[in-house]
Amino acid sequence: MRQSTIIESPSTFSFTDNAFDTNSFNASVMNTYGRFPIAMEKGKGCRLWDTEGKEYLDFVAGIATCTLGHAHPALIDRVTQQIQKLHHVSNFYYIPEQGQLAQWLVEHSCADKVFFCNSGAEANEAAIKLVRKYAHTVLDFLEQPVILTAKSSFHGRTLATITATGQPKYQKGFEPLVDGFAYVPYNDITAVENAIADIDEGNRRVAAIMLEPLQGEGGVRPGELEYFLKLRKICDENNILLVFDEVQVGVGRTGKLWGYENLGVEPDIFTSAKGLAGGVPIGAMLCKDFCAVFEPGNHASTFGGNPLACASALAVLETIEQENLIHNAEARGEQLRVRLRAIANKYPQIFTEVRGWGLINGMEINADIPLNSIDIVKSAMKQGLLIAPAGSKVLRFVPPLIVSEAEINQAVDVLESVIAQMA
Ligand SMILES: *Cc1c(COP(=O)(O)O)cnc(C)c1O
Repeated sequence: MRQSTIIESPSTFSFTDNAFDTNSFNASVMNTYGRFPIAMEKGKGCRLWDTEGKEYLDFVAGIATCTLGHAHPALIDRVTQQIQKLHHVSNFYYIPEQGQLAQWLVEHSCADKVFFCNSGAEANEAAIKLVRKYAHTVLDFLEQPVILTAKSSFHGRTLATITATGQPKYQKGFEPLVDGFAYVPYNDITAVENAIADIDEGNRRVAAIMLEPLQGEGGVRPGELEYFLKLRKICDENNILLVFDEVQVGVGRTGKLWGYENLGVEPDIFTSAKGLAGGVPIGAMLCKDFCAVFEPGNHASTFGGNPLACASALAVLETIEQENLIHNAEARGEQLRVRLRAIANKYPQIFTEVRGWGLINGMEINADIPLNSIDIVKSAMKQGLLIAPAGSKVLRFVPPLIVSEAEINQAVDVLESVIAQMA
């Protein structure tokens, strides 16, 4: 029998008392995250402070999201101005900020058209719907379009995007999954050729290949140039759309504005979200004119492209240009990798590889030892450094793009002392 219980809990959380009350939080917030027992209270630049006043160097950045760090004046000013003027209206009307943002994105990418939504998963959903619409209309022989995605990929948590995600752990318990997806190992061109040959039969055909230019969640695994060049050729020869999920790697993080610029190829469709508005929720699905086949009524989002989110993204993009943050991502990333490699070389029994582009970097832990990424993440947190796991065996470093040379050194110093204690 279902019972409704009234849980006695304080009506307000005290952020001034020393201990944050995790019990009353857990009494009402759904249990979907394995949270660390700390609560953040404020941030500035690459630093965060918890409710006990402890300071952290933030190399998580809300998972590659706080492009400008915390409390950046450019974002504060723009959000303040916009919310005082107009924060939300329906897409029934033209939204000037949305037009300006779309124009900036089109001028600074291979895309011609943009659709706005609120998250990475939603942007990928839009891309999946666009692929299907294109398959059903332009490639009108296609009744059963299939989208190939990569094993170890991550594309989000909606039903279609967990299906696109090539990791069974995200799909388990949510079956039946969505039809029309198949998986290939990443960076393996023969596997793509074989999959196309296997799948194509009558009305069932590969309509798109959807990949991350660098796999983020799946272990910070960069795409290989030669693989992507061949992939582009296969797509062109077979009328297959090439879709890139740039949700984590886009907006300057890799030391280029878009992740695909590291691979020498252009996608037909790509998605952006995390870092695009620096932590204000936004998602975008961008494509070339030839496949921009949505018509009025085909797709929509209530919040998508609202004035507040678009103004925030414009502030982020203008600041990236003004403060030369793409160059900073490249230089600081190089500095970080050199220092992480020195640690890996010093402790070869613990670390097997350091890899990444710009300011998305991973450090792989030896598969043969019991140590997991979460163990190091917890120890580093105690020492005041925030880093994120990317699966059980990879440490992920995704600081804000404003990170300084001194902050990189400080972070690696902390990591080094954490590892020295563990070794
Ligand atoms: C985070 C992420 C997503 C999902 O984004 P949400 O905003 O959490 O829906 C999709 N793809 C990639 C590559 C991501 O890193």
